[in-house]
Amino acid sequence: MEIFSEYLIKIGNQFIDPKKRVFVAYIAISIIIALGWFILNRKLSLKKAIKKIFDKKIFFSKSAKSDYKIFFINQLIMMIVSPLLITQLTIATALYFYFHSIDWLSVGMFKNTLPIIVIICFTSFQFTLDDFSKYIIHRFMHRWPILWSLHKVHHSATVLTPMTVFRTHPLEGIIFSLRSSLTQAVSISSFIFLFGNSVDLLTILGVNIFVFLFNIFGSNLRHSHIGIRYWRWVEYIFISPAQHQLHHSIASEHHDKNFGAALAVWDWLFGSLHHSVEYETLELGIEKNQKDETHNLKDLYINPFIEIKNYILRRLKKLRNKAYSINIKRRIFHEN
Ligand SMILES: [Zn+2]
Ligand SMILES: [Zn+2]
Repeated sequence: MEIFSEYLIKIGNQFIDPKKRVFVAYIAISIIIALGWFILNRKLSLKKAIKKIFDKKIFFSKSAKSDYKIFFINQLIMMIVSPLLITQLTIATALYFYFHSIDWLSVGMFKNTLPIIVIICFTSFQFTLDDFSKYIIHRFMHRWPILWSLHKVHHSATVLTPMTVFRTHPLEGIIFSLRSSLTQAVSISSFIFLFGNSVDLLTILGVNIFVFLFNIFGSNLRHSHIGIRYWRWVEYIFISPAQHQLHHSIASEHHDKNFGAALAVWDWLFGSLHHSVEYETLELGIEKNQKDETHNLKDLYINPFIEIKNYILRRLKKLRNKAYSINIKRRIFHEN
């Protein structure tokens, strides 16, 4: 009974905690932005704009329904798994003591820096490191077959709704949770070590100001059918909703593009940036004419394990064949 109420609180928190992506106020602001986009940019009437935003075909599609179910299941899985994962505090403490062993570093070496400067630097560093680590992990998710088997679950969505952000395999959820703990620990321990106790975050409603601004400016529209595009020069700095939608496109020219979370600079720097295109021209998912069965929960949860097992067996077979042919060559060499 206690677990059940804990679970309900966890679900509710997703919508009432400003630290969470789908906090109701962020959703409400995203709807206002979408209305503005359709009315001012697409010259639709208010009635048509509302109809377009709350498109039943999208929100009641098989793909979206799977997103909702995965959300409820994953919350439960993470509730059970989270206490088993290494915490941010453990990593931060270990790093803090590790820094003592580095000769060219000393505790509080910048402790006389003005507190406001420390706070601004810490807030920006934490946000940038977090965003960069998301870019790196996301890129590996597409590069390594084992990780791709997991990340494919997210890309199997054929329509996007704000709940698609939760459409991930639980193992991907664990990887991203560890990533978050590690980056937070790195920023906290290094700043406390170098600047002493004046380290604090610039926050709004308890949220890093940059994360708050990212959410206020419609982070939820990235997973939506509202293809808001930024000016071309802005898309080099910030990922527009249409740029992330393009990341979900099946077109080969869009493959492995726009891995960024909030900042587009990583994609720009590392050659994976693609400017947005009209949303209506995109087909989303993994393959052309994707079957409805790809939204089955059993497949979404189990198939990645089967694919990973098959991949490992294939690799082992290749290694065995290689070792066998080396042995044969050696034997021929010795016989001669
Ligand atoms: Zn991806
Ligand atoms: Zn996505």
